[in-house]
Parts: sequence; structure tokens; C-alpha cells
Amino acid sequence: MDRKSAFEKAFLERVGTAPSKNVPLSALSNFGIGGPADLFFEALDEEELARAVSVAFAEKFPFYVIGGGYNLLFDDAGYRGLIIRNRLEGIRREGSCLNVLSGTSLSRVLSTAVAEGLTGLEFLAGIPGTVGGAIYGNAGAYGWSIGDFVRWATILWPDGERKTVTRENLAFGYRDSVLKKKPGIVLKAALLCTPGDKAESETRIKEILGRRWAKHPPHGTACAGSYFKNSCSATGARIAAGQLLDQAGARGLSVGDAAVSDVHCNFLVNKGNARAADVLALAAELKDLVERKFGLRLEEEVIYLRADASMI
Ligand SMILES: Cc1cc2nc3c(=O)[nH]c(=O)nc-3n(C[C@H](O)[C@H](O)[C@H](O)COP(=O)(O)OP(=O)(O)OC[C@H]3O[C@@H](n4cnc5c(N)ncnc54)[C@H](O)[C@@H]3O)c2cc1C
Repeated sequence: MDRKSAFEKAFLERVGTAPSKNVPLSALSNFGIGGPADLFFEALDEEELARAVSVAFAEKFPFYVIGGGYNLLFDDAGYRGLIIRNRLEGIRREGSCLNVLSGTSLSRVLSTAVAEGLTGLEFLAGIPGTVGGAIYGNAGAYGWSIGDFVRWATILWPDGERKTVTRENLAFGYRDSVLKKKPGIVLKAALLCTPGDKAESETRIKEILGRRWAKHPPHGTACAGSYFKNSCSATGARIAAGQLLDQAGARGLSVGDAAVSDVHCNFLVNKGNARAADVLALAAELKDLVERKFGLRLEEEVIYLRADASMI
């Protein structure tokens, strides 16, 4: 029996469901790009997720956990291992905290907060994806990031250990957390809000969505949000990557069907049949342009998942 078949057998025995085979990753990424994953599994609850991870760890079979696929660029070759999609969903209020399962969408978290009269999370308006993905990359906008609100999070480490840690242990930074250095899977988290006025929250959300719609590509565009992180100047201030790209001459550039958005230079979009190779070539060209003009090297915010990557 080959390695993949042996793993499928072990997975079925341990998890109770067989993983799907040859699943196109393009359908799981907002970019609409990516070849087939050898194996794919959607975990609907914590135990299912923990069992899937533990069998992959025990069998030393490559695996990777995804949320909504809004910040990922998959490989044209797909993935040589098991992709686990986190579908753990649910929210419970406890005092001023919302205790959320990590596969819950940010939009559901925000609408629950508003309905409960809890404020602070309005900055999440219009950011797609799950709580787990947001904590991984410390997603944010307009001066706030999710890490500012995390009180604790329960992490599943690939070896099976589950640990609840406080915000300090997650080492949040600009689009950064400890999980980028030490792979672990967020299972749930508590977001600490402030009791406040529902109408004020709604007004703030409208204002934020208005700002987004005015300067971002239209809803439904195949992309992964801002492709590059904002850059750090010599004084430590952040300079918008979109501005640097615009001034360096990025507007109108494309490779194959991968193109710089007409609306915002930091959004790379798939105009139809872009391949990951096209996006990567365009991104490399853009980094060189900015470096030549400003002496700054842009860093990717979007995560490129190579076919042979793994969380172990
Ligand atoms: C139109 C558009 C607008 C956007 N605007 C913003 C914005 O304003 N601000 C911003 O910060 N981002 C923005 N993004 C990017 C994206 O929405 C965020 O990065 C979001 O947090 C991704 O969540 P996800 O569930 O889709 O993660 P995925 O794309 O599925 O995964 C991203 C990374 O998170 C990891 N991950 C996912 N779930 C977990 C988990 N449970 N535990 C540990 N790691 C996990 C994955 O392994 C992967 O490395 C935008 C994207 C789009 C398409």
C-alpha cells in the first residue's frame, strides 16, 4: 500500500470519515487559483479537527489548516498532503466577552457584537474570513487589529497538546502573531468588547464600509486583499504599500491574467485564468519596481502555500 493510501486508511479509522481526494484548491481560495489537494477534509467540531491533526502528526503526513481562504495563494501544483478546512462555528457571550469558535466568520462576530450592544469590533466591517485566520495574521484596519481584543485563545499544537494562552503569549504585531513562527491552530478565542451604543456602532460600520467601497476593488473580485504589507519608513512610520506601488509605476501592470487592480495598486487580481506563477511573477516585478524607486523591499501579506509545505 502506498503512503497516501495507508494514511487514508488510518484517517478513516481514527476520524470516522474518509477525506475527499483531488479537491481543486481554486474553489477554496478567493483568488480562484490553485491545483488539486491530494486530500481534503472539513472539520465541523473541535474533536474532529483534533483527531484529523493527530492522525496526520502520528503518520508524519503533511497537512495544512485553512479558514475562509481569503488571504491565501495556492500553488498551481495544488497540495501534496491533507488540507483541513476549519468549520468550527459558534459564539457565546460571557460578560463583555464574545467567546468564538475559530471557524466563525468575522462578519458573524461583528453582527453578534452589534446585536449584543458590544462595541470595539467595528473595524472588522468588510474584512472577509474566519476568526482563526484573523488571529494568525492579526487582521485589522483603520488603526485596530484583532489582537487588540483577544483576551485568550485556545491553541492546538500539531503534536496534539491543547493550551489556552493569553494575548501576551500570542506576540501580536503588525499583521503578525506567534503562529507565523510556531505553527499552531486556533480553536477558540475570547474577544473583549466594551458595552456601548448599538446605533453608534451601526453608524461607524456604515462609515467604514463606505470608505472601503470607495477605494477597494468591487465585492466579489478574485483577490486576496492587500498583497503587500505597508512598509516601514526610516522613522518607523508605516507607509501605505498601495501608495508606493502607485508612485513606482505599478498601475496597469499584469502578467498573464494576474493584474494590478485599477482601483488600488496593492490589490493583485485574477482577471480570469491567472496562475499562481503569474501572480508570483507580477509580485516579484512590483517589489523590484518599489525597491528601485524608494530603496524599500515590500513584504508579502498574502500567504503563498507551496505544494510541499506542511504544519509539521
Ligand atoms: C477583499 C478583501 C479585503 C481584505 N481586507 C483586509 C483588511 O482590511 N485587513 C486585513 O487584515 N486583511 C484583509 N483581508 C485578508 C483576509 O480577509 C484576512 O487575512 C483574514 O483574516 C483571512 O482569514 P481566512 O479565514 O480567510 O484565512 P485563510 O486565508 O484561510 O488562511 C490565512 C492563514 O491563516 C491560517 N489560519 C487559518 N485558520 C487558522 C486557525 N484556526 N488557526 C491558525 N491559523 C489559521 C492559515 O493556515 C493561513 O496561513 C482581505 C481579503 C480580501 C479578499
